[in-house]
Amino acid sequence: MGKIVVKFGGSSLADAKQFQKVRAIIEMNRQRCYVVPSAPGKRFPEDEKVTDLLYQSYRAVNAGEDYHVPFAKIRSRYTEIRDTLSLSVKIEEYLDQIEAELEKGVTEDYIASRGEYLNGLLLADYLGFQFLDPKDLIFFMDDGSFDSERTNTVLSGVLAKVPSAVIPGFYGSIRNGEIHTFSRGGSDVSGAIVARAAGADIYENWTDVNGFLMADPRIVKNAKPIKNITYRELRELSYMGAGVLHEDSVFPVHRAGIPTNIRNTNEPDNAGTMIMHGAVEEPNPYVITGVAGKRGFSVISVEKAMMNSEVGFGRKVLQAVEEQGLSFEHLPTGIDTMCVVVSTAQLAPVKEKLVRRIVDLTDPDTLTIHDDMAIIATVGRGMVQNPGTAAKLFTALSRVHVNVRMIDQGSSELSILVGVDNDDFETAIRAIYEEFVGE
Ligand code: ASP
Repeated sequence: MGKIVVKFGGSSLADAKQFQKVRAIIEMNRQRCYVVPSAPGKRFPEDEKVTDLLYQSYRAVNAGEDYHVPFAKIRSRYTEIRDTLSLSVKIEEYLDQIEAELEKGVTEDYIASRGEYLNGLLLADYLGFQFLDPKDLIFFMDDGSFDSERTNTVLSGVLAKVPSAVIPGFYGSIRNGEIHTFSRGGSDVSGAIVARAAGADIYENWTDVNGFLMADPRIVKNAKPIKNITYRELRELSYMGAGVLHEDSVFPVHRAGIPTNIRNTNEPDNAGTMIMHGAVEEPNPYVITGVAGKRGFSVISVEKAMMNSEVGFGRKVLQAVEEQGLSFEHLPTGIDTMCVVVSTAQLAPVKEKLVRRIVDLTDPDTLTIHDDMAIIATVGRGMVQNPGTAAKLFTALSRVHVNVRMIDQGSSELSILVGVDNDDFETAIRAIYEEFVGE
């Protein structure tokens, strides 16, 4: 029987009612055998996440302030879940111990990780699954980076002997068994690591939305959901700011060829978004898969007659960029011009120095910097088979009088990038969406 690893986000496990939905989802399909929970998240928009309350408690103790207010809120979140579900876990004892450790002085990562730890204990009891502490299964190197090979060897060995388990998300251990966490939202990463080690058929990531949308719903009202997307398309869209998943959660499952399915705990019948490996991709109903973008870029244009025949010209421009500690985003070039697209915020403090250095190194005819640009990526694996996609895109933009300042298309034809004025950002996204998807 194939295995499914399921990760539930904070809002999916925010209270006892959500726990009940989670159990119903797991019982619906017995292949759902390894469960990775987050800490209790928000129950309503103004609510506080347990992880935030834990950080608050830690900071209060370290500043010599009173931590009892946030800690009391944490206590009541867990006791409410335990009591409503009539579980037998002695959660007060665990909480007392954490409180004592907090006063005594422990690391911030240790305190932050307790949100997932306690939720995992409750969930394991509720499901009748074994509890596995990731401190013995997920490892970090001394520099804090994730130790994927050691983790995979140990974790897969343990999972081979345990048919069903709850493994809290967000943390593991560093040398000497000290607790270490991933960055915020890191339970997504833990879930992906467990899916790889378990050799899962699918990694299901349960959250509070029906998967990814084709465009940001704050810009495009009623944006349609994406049913199928490849990992490479997802990478392009999330780079452009369309995020539901922690970035580092994509790699472990992608490498192992395991699809990720984003699902909604509050609407379990909705199929959500399936993120697939290229090889098993399904046809998409639209030529594009999605459109996303970011504001706040600057384009540095360096122009020099006969640039194309000057050996080393590009290297010198990039050398100047590198010397200022800037990373560049895109490099559109023409016959006599070379453009470097960088983030405006990164450029601002070093702008004058950079200009001087490029002039010294390359002696250009002109050098201009255009700030306030937004970059929009129209992404779609279907674009390669559809002639005229670029024409449609630019017609749509000209119809709404958006001036295109930069164009960049990777040879993979997975995405077309356009640079427009920051002010035209939303108009451009709406125009592209309407052209390819409709109202
Ligand atoms: N609880 C952690 C956070 O709030 C990790 C997670 O939920 O993924 O960031």
